[in-house]
Amino acid sequence: MADLGNPKNTIAILQKYNFNFQKKFGQNFLIDIRVLEKIINAAKITKNDFVLEIGPGIGTMTQYLCEHAREVAAVEIDKNLIPILKETLNIYDNVEVIHGDILKIDVERLIQEKNYGNPIKVVANLPYYITTPIIMGLFESHVPIDSITIMVQKEVAERMQASPGTKDYGALSLAVQYYAKPKIVAHVPPNCFMPRPAVGSAVICMHKHQEPPVQIADEKLMFALIRASFNQRRKTLVNGLNNAPNISCSKQQILSALQAMDLPDNVRGETLTLSQFAQLSNLLGN
Ligand code: SAM
Repeated sequence: MADLGNPKNTIAILQKYNFNFQKKFGQNFLIDIRVLEKIINAAKITKNDFVLEIGPGIGTMTQYLCEHAREVAAVEIDKNLIPILKETLNIYDNVEVIHGDILKIDVERLIQEKNYGNPIKVVANLPYYITTPIIMGLFESHVPIDSITIMVQKEVAERMQASPGTKDYGALSLAVQYYAKPKIVAHVPPNCFMPRPAVGSAVICMHKHQEPPVQIADEKLMFALIRASFNQRRKTLVNGLNNAPNISCSKQQILSALQAMDLPDNVRGETLTLSQFAQLSNLLGN
């Protein structure tokens, strides 16, 4: 099958099947060979790897994954793409296309059945509207994953990688960085896709931590503190937490914890590092 990274081949297959792009599924297909190669290199795919691809589309990246990986499972929600994938992937015997919604599929069972429970690599050019639920779902479920390499909206990639005190730093940065080490590996302009999206994109590679980078007694409490701090970004941390309905600490308890951490009373949440949020949650949890 011809390389779909070449726009001519993508157009030919779309015309052959009279394919209509579905906006509701965030369908923007990659048509740039250099970007495809960057993704494969950033994910460090080798013949030892089992790769889960989310949303293969017409199979453009899937072809590259099949060439480099031991085995690939590709989950696609749009039934109209299934016959196309059958054709574009017909020369590969190391791929299984699964028709389904990634948010409903039992990924843990898939990894158990296909890779004997060993860590897999996830690669995806994601529909932007489900980026966060997919990534956080994969991390929070603690399924065995080595890395996630994904194309996302540029601003989302920047938020994931942001450091404390920057404008992009927020709950998403802390959540991602608690589970993984993110690195933006490519910026991808709209003309690398068909049809062109309205926004710029970036490829971000997230290597999952073997051990959590901080020790927390109560993960739920830490994430509740993080969300409350950034929900009210302009407020001081004390006021942000004190106003949050789901946090039951008194103002005095919060002030005492900040003092124990050598932080000023008027500190803002956006300046706290992950380890400071961990320390704060351990102090307040006690
Ligand atoms: N990987 C292809 C590429 O790079 O050209 C297609 C990327 S396109 C941005 C996103 C793909 O994800 C589409 O094929 C879309 O149908 C599929 N998709 C959307 N929501 C999905 C879901 N919940 N589960 C699985 N696939 C989904």
